[in-house]
Amino acid sequence: MMHIQTIQTGSTLVSSAVPNRATHRFSFAYTGLFQRRKNRIEVPVKCFYVTVGNHHLLVDTGWSNLNRTKPFKHLGFGLWFASEPVLPEGEAACEQLAGKPIDAILMTHLDCDHISGLFDFHDIDTYTSAEEIAFAKRNRLRYGGLDKGHTVRTIPFVADEAAPFGKSCDLFGDGTVIAYLTPTHSAGSVIYKIQDGDRFALIVGDNGYNHASWQQGLLPGPLYDADNMRKCLAWLKEQEQQPACLGIFCAHDPQEMDVI
Ligand SMILES: [Zn+2]
Repeated sequence: MMHIQTIQTGSTLVSSAVPNRATHRFSFAYTGLFQRRKNRIEVPVKCFYVTVGNHHLLVDTGWSNLNRTKPFKHLGFGLWFASEPVLPEGEAACEQLAGKPIDAILMTHLDCDHISGLFDFHDIDTYTSAEEIAFAKRNRLRYGGLDKGHTVRTIPFVADEAAPFGKSCDLFGDGTVIAYLTPTHSAGSVIYKIQDGDRFALIVGDNGYNHASWQQGLLPGPLYDADNMRKCLAWLKEQEQQPACLGIFCAHDPQEMDVI
């Protein structure tokens, strides 16, 4: 049994270079610096509530409801400026999932629009990669302080020739969730493969900003390694063509989808 419910936690106002870096000349254009704010685009901020085997999981956490009341205090001005949050009443993940069981939270990476909602959840096992924690410590400008103060478990990756970048982890040891280390959007980004028998879905965070990333070969703006991102997008295109693939879920895809 596999169920993936998309939870949209509002949206973010960003430069058009975020989903497609070819829209601007400069590599830092995704920050929105020196651009008119009225030219920004609004993209959804999604996380995913997954039921597979006997696990109830939240993949990423979207915007915290702190963005409704104290956005500057929560994000700091720099992160607020680069990815202005919009969060209507009732749309934070903690509000939409109130009363539902969550056994673990799986982070695709630690950028603010993915980790912000973690402030609304307490005492839940949270997983990320050791590579992402180290990268966030080295890049305070990009991550702000939002990665600090959470108790997290690092994913124990092992060598895997079939993984897109040679490392994977069977997270619960029962084949339901396979984590792949993907140093693309950030040094420690993770893709989660959710498996039910021979059928699977992929939750990719910002490895692929939306379906156009791999279907039209559009390179997103914020990148850790452009060659790795190209390789990852080619891998996603291959995965999508497999009959067993039920869907590929991106955090900022306008396309509406759930797996039931
Ligand atoms: Zn994002």
